[in-house]
Amino acid sequence: LPRFTDFYVIMKVLSVYLKNIRYYNLSESSINVCQHRRYNNYCFPRVSQVFQPSDSVPNPKESTTKLQNAAQLVTKHGMVHQCSAGQIAVLPLFQRALDKLCTIVEEQMQAVSAYKMTMPTLTPQQLWKKTGRFEEAGPELMVLEDRHEKRFILSPTHEEAICDIVATCFPKDVPKSRLPLRLYQITTKFRDEARPRHALIRSREFLMKDLYTFDVDEAAAAETYNAVSEAYNTIFSRIGVPFIRARGSCGAVGGKYSHEFHYLSPAAGQDYVLSCASCGYSATAGLLQETGLLPDDTELVKHGPTDGPTVPCQNCDSGNMDAAVGVEVGHTFLLGTTYSKPMKVVHRDMDMKLQPLVMGCYGLGMTRIVQASLDVTCQQQPYEDSIVWPWSLAPYRVCIIGPKRGSKEKEAQHWVETLGRNIEQQVPVLRGDVILDDRDNLSIGKRVLDARKTGYPLIVVVGKAALQDVPKFELIDNTEVYRELIGCGEIASLERHKEGKGGALLSQLQLLNVLGEFCNRLQR
Ligand SMILES: [Zn+2]
Repeated sequence: LPRFTDFYVIMKVLSVYLKNIRYYNLSESSINVCQHRRYNNYCFPRVSQVFQPSDSVPNPKESTTKLQNAAQLVTKHGMVHQCSAGQIAVLPLFQRALDKLCTIVEEQMQAVSAYKMTMPTLTPQQLWKKTGRFEEAGPELMVLEDRHEKRFILSPTHEEAICDIVATCFPKDVPKSRLPLRLYQITTKFRDEARPRHALIRSREFLMKDLYTFDVDEAAAAETYNAVSEAYNTIFSRIGVPFIRARGSCGAVGGKYSHEFHYLSPAAGQDYVLSCASCGYSATAGLLQETGLLPDDTELVKHGPTDGPTVPCQNCDSGNMDAAVGVEVGHTFLLGTTYSKPMKVVHRDMDMKLQPLVMGCYGLGMTRIVQASLDVTCQQQPYEDSIVWPWSLAPYRVCIIGPKRGSKEKEAQHWVETLGRNIEQQVPVLRGDVILDDRDNLSIGKRVLDARKTGYPLIVVVGKAALQDVPKFELIDNTEVYRELIGCGEIASLERHKEGKGGALLSQLQLLNVLGEFCNRLQR
């Protein structure tokens, strides 16, 4: 049945796409080169071949107003496709961004000696009854029954499942030599959202990274907590979009204490985060309510974050905390023994007595991070309806646009592949990150516009100037908004020429040098 469903979804997406498909003929020369590249086991990705059904669902309401948030942008520009309410298909360009995020996360997990695994999506309901969480869980839990009338949970989280695995593998006790235990997975999680919206921000299926840790005692668990928190700081710094780390409430998960990672997004956010400007301390509105410092958030909702009630800072005497609207993208919990005790994940202490291990759990909403980061970067779009990718997640970093079919510049076509190859060879960071816009039935201007909307950080145009004695190419820099956001400032004094598309005219050598400098500055 699942296979059939997948097939059905693919056919449905395809049928929408085929209605909007545009056919392109590759020119003779580019096909020849392409075959040559295939022989070397590499073929440049081409815009004509990427499945990017732009405007697949034209919405008359949207066409007249400026797009409000990343959810609309990624849908409009063919990054994701909504199959049904809350079920979102991730299409190839978004998938590349997601894969890049996975690489960053996996590298930082390795840095804290956490190991990747995959647990079954279905967790037996009885495990959740053992910890008492099944009764507490609300209607957001998705439950199903198999042919033997055994009930399973489509897991939103795996504390019970990991405890069961560890307890079953070490039925007597977990030997000290195996601790600390740090295991994570990156898998699809489920939540029966009452009102799914904002595409991948509030969907019913989403990709999540969840790490579970086991330590001998509180002190060791706190050490793990600090190490993983530091890894999270590194992950979010590498993504390169400003974030807030706030003390959070432990809520339904339970445990000792927790922190939340937020991207500020007035458009798609649903949580209030309060921060003190003088000491930098942040806490979620939920926690402040639990501790009685904030009466409730009705005032915040009514007046908006800026005119809400004044909350004195908990951490220092001088400051007040200002509220902002955020999207929660990561969460760390020091769980204590809430789960290890009922699930009997134990070790022997100095007196040979059985003691439950102290746990931590650490989540990252992967699909959510990619989309919410766009909510931050797209807040000041320089061009209407354009996506601004963080450099770290851009599906491709350089888009090369060749001359139009039948135009005078057509003779310069051979430069497209040559430039692509030379860029990948001379600037290693860009290896595999160059895409060619081969739709040579379209004008250069139309394709530059498309590339801006898709959000390729750098665009290289092979046009008229490529036919000069010293061939020159136009470099269009789309990273300005992002650079401002991360405080990276000017990179190279790119003198814009007047006749082109707003870029700088550079020889091949200059181009390679400038690209190298861009990468040095933007790579974190
Ligand atoms: Zn303070």
